[in-house]
Amino acid sequence: MSSLFKIPIQQLNGVGSRRAELFHKLGVDTVGTLLHFYPRAYEDWSHPYRIADAPTDNMCCIKANIEGAYPPARIRGNMTIFKLDVCDGYDRMTVTFFNQKYTYDKLKNGGEFLFYGTLKHNFSLYEMASPTVLPADVGEGIHPVYPQTANLTSRQIESAVRQAIAMLPEKINDPVPENILDKFGLCSLDFAIRNVHFPKDENSLLSARKRLAFEELLILQLGMVQIKGGRKKATTHQIQKDYSDEFFSFLPFSPTNAQKKAVSECVSDMMNQPSPMNRLVQGDVGSGKTAVAAAVCYTAVKNGLQCAFMAPTEILAAQHFKTLSELFDGTDVNVGLLTGSVTAAKKRKIYENLKDGSIDIIIGTHALISENVEFKKLGLVVTDEQHRFGVAQRSTLIEKGDSPHILVMSATPIPRTLALMIFGDLDLSILDELPPGRQKVETFLIDGSKRQRAYGFLKKHIDNGNQCYIVCPLVEQNETNLASAKEYVERLKKTFLGSYRIALLHGKMKPSEKDNIMSEFSAGNIDILISTTVIEVGVDVPNATVMMIENSERFGLSQLHQLRGRVGRGKNKSYCILVSDIQKESSLERLRVMCKTNDGFKIADEDLRLRGPGDFFGSRQHGLPELKIADISSMTLLEETQTAAKMILEKDPDLSLKEHQGLKFETKRLFSKVGTSGQLQ
Ligand code: ADP
Ligand code: MG
Repeated sequence: MSSLFKIPIQQLNGVGSRRAELFHKLGVDTVGTLLHFYPRAYEDWSHPYRIADAPTDNMCCIKANIEGAYPPARIRGNMTIFKLDVCDGYDRMTVTFFNQKYTYDKLKNGGEFLFYGTLKHNFSLYEMASPTVLPADVGEGIHPVYPQTANLTSRQIESAVRQAIAMLPEKINDPVPENILDKFGLCSLDFAIRNVHFPKDENSLLSARKRLAFEELLILQLGMVQIKGGRKKATTHQIQKDYSDEFFSFLPFSPTNAQKKAVSECVSDMMNQPSPMNRLVQGDVGSGKTAVAAAVCYTAVKNGLQCAFMAPTEILAAQHFKTLSELFDGTDVNVGLLTGSVTAAKKRKIYENLKDGSIDIIIGTHALISENVEFKKLGLVVTDEQHRFGVAQRSTLIEKGDSPHILVMSATPIPRTLALMIFGDLDLSILDELPPGRQKVETFLIDGSKRQRAYGFLKKHIDNGNQCYIVCPLVEQNETNLASAKEYVERLKKTFLGSYRIALLHGKMKPSEKDNIMSEFSAGNIDILISTTVIEVGVDVPNATVMMIENSERFGLSQLHQLRGRVGRGKNKSYCILVSDIQKESSLERLRVMCKTNDGFKIADEDLRLRGPGDFFGSRQHGLPELKIADISSMTLLEETQTAAKMILEKDPDLSLKEHQGLKFETKRLFSKVGTSGQLQ
């Protein structure tokens, strides 16, 4: 099979350099990749209907004879209608084509054909417009529908795939070892490839897809394990004593039971286990993850370890730095902040203090993974909003220590299946309890015609001494109708809200400007903060009570939930106003989920259900390669592939055995696309 990845697609009949260019756009350059270019759907032509029995208004296949052809009718300068009458022996149907003279000429001489299209039934007339047509003797079966690009049709792809399949060697090397195929009842690769493209029947299709999805997930997991450094190492940083109660006494509030439980799970991971902690703490926005991380850091530091705490944005890093510095004020714990905007001189000092061990906890952004950063004894790595870091970034920080404990915090409640996929083999703590007194953020969905009324609502809150956010998707107007943050400020200044203190915050600002604005907002010196999504993660200003989100249909539900989490953090009742002029019912349905629930886990599941796993996180965000056939919301398959990956790695941790060369090859191929292949051995 691997040799087919060396044969350029041009070797196939009908694929010249121009068509090869089109295939390239689809990510297909070789015969091998073409075989792994799977249909996105199938048309079932295997049981053609009689006209009267066929479902109307749905795609279906009808078998009928040509009865007669009408003369072509030119309706506009460039539009000709071709009509034919067909009959299945009982009923008649009119078939219409637009500008398809070629098809018409083929049909008008009569014969039996299959027509695949949408059947309309008006009064006693049956009609089908622009169906796909194949001769009855060759057309029956299940037909693949490929993802297309302009000028390359599904049929053209199909014809190339047929040739590629004919090139399959007699015996193809199956990357999945035989014992795994047997154990999980999977079909062979040869069968899978033939049937994923041209299924014999529905069952063959199902087993083909299952087998390919299995392989894809298996390879993904093997790759992840290898990136992460593989087998569990023995811990080098076992701690002796639990200091979390001492830490809790520094807090201005008492920790929730969920927080206490999460902290004690972490401490026990660091204290009693043969291998280092590898734990994901998931908690809805506002569940108090920062305090959990701080408690764990404190315990680690008191046991002589250094901690690195990585956050995705400068604003968030600065905020964590402030929180932790205040908490540890009066203790001997030394906290540092390292972000891109720290001056070179200060950076040098920090590098020095990390190396000599005088900084105990370093909080920072990606700047932490700079090669200048060296630790004396890095024993704990905490990452906040972890899904925003790529696989490679995570491992770079971890490699700065000698198998440090790892604590991952995710504020986007990730459905468990996805969490397993992204983070692999880690333990899970869930903060399923909010601190007392938290109120539900009341959420409304409005269209633009009610914007003025919404402004009135904001005004009331500001007059009451509270503050508001308005979120716009973009900084500058580069798409029509999209509220741009900059223009928005100008427009808002002309309304009755113009007399209030308005400021703009966006991602293209210098970090120092951003910090400035955030601290002004935090201090209550700004009434309305107009912002792009830079405030999405973690920012904590309890006095803000209203958030208005323009073009809310542009956001994913989990993202909206994150944004909404910026309000409702204080004692006052808080509100979120989603503005959208979209008419599409499915989009509205999505937004209404926000009005119905405040439960981030429910929202994440809904998001997954409505948008599909592909969209849940862009692959760029979580650093996973894009999956072509596996559906990561399939828990069973995920668990099976995890078991399989374990079996394989126990026997052959580096995939060096001969029987695993296929898997190794495929792992490299999958990860080469996300640019982490350098990390794979
Ligand atoms: P998130 O889980 O979203 O990161 P934070 O750690 O930012 O949440 O906490 C949100 C707010 O709740 C902060 O102002 C924090 O001080 C406060 N908080 C955290 N834990 C508690 C608690 N047990 N009781 C009261 N307030 C708490
Ligand atoms: Mg947080």
